[in-house]
Amino acid sequence: MIFHVLTIFPEFFRGPFEHGVLRRGREAGAVEIRIHNLRDWTADRHKTVDDRPFGGGEGMLLKPEPIFSAVESIWPERSPEQKVLLLSAQGRLFNQEIANQLAQMRELVLICGRYEGVDERVAEHLADEELSIGNYVLSGGELAAAVIIDAVTRLVPGVLGNDSSRLFESFQGTGHAAGVLDCPQYTRPADYRGWKVPEVLLSGNHEEIRKWRERSALEKTARLRPDLLSRTEIQTNPDSECSARRLQS
Ligand code: SAH
Repeated sequence: MIFHVLTIFPEFFRGPFEHGVLRRGREAGAVEIRIHNLRDWTADRHKTVDDRPFGGGEGMLLKPEPIFSAVESIWPERSPEQKVLLLSAQGRLFNQEIANQLAQMRELVLICGRYEGVDERVAEHLADEELSIGNYVLSGGELAAAVIIDAVTRLVPGVLGNDSSRLFESFQGTGHAAGVLDCPQYTRPADYRGWKVPEVLLSGNHEEIRKWRERSALEKTARLRPDLLSRTEIQTNPDSECSARRLQS
């Protein structure tokens, strides 16, 4: 999978992809990340990428020409497995489901906005989709692009050592576990400052451990992210046994 990032700050990306899973994914050849400097596609002496908004107002906007030129020279033609994404506070909210869909693509271009944003014709006529990473305003699309590349890369086959492990992560489950957070996890020491690891995890009884994990994942989801369970019916009985049933809808 190839990610192309279009940015006016290429140096920004000297770090985020140099560690852990991202680094291993790149070294294994499963993903490639190409950083493109938007100024390389300007035609004037000053390499101008921005201009004032029509109608007045504060700040500057990224001009359309260098962005169209860049994407059209990276991909003279586009296939359905090549998507152009515009990072934007106004976009669809990025989530694990979108990450799964993007991981099926062959190549992505991520356009990082700056200043007051990007000329709207980029959203209208160049990008396949505007994506936001949350309901807040960042000063540029670079951090958002790094977030999306990170989340998608770990879903690309061959990047995580144990492909089945990611199925149990937060948001990633299937069946009744869809939309449920990961269960609480503990490592040694079994007793830290008097805070003991739940006994069942030390028992070696795999069936009991599986049930505990399922139950505690649901309890934690109900406590921290009840919104995720809106389509899942939670029943808590007096001895705090928790079970979920997907509502037919
Ligand atoms: N005036 C715009 C914000 C511009 S912020 C507005 O009010 O909507 C400058 C750039 O940062 C944007 O063009 C976008 O690329 C990026 N950005 C800001 N917030 C973002 C978010 N929540 N998700 C993704 N990108 C974001």
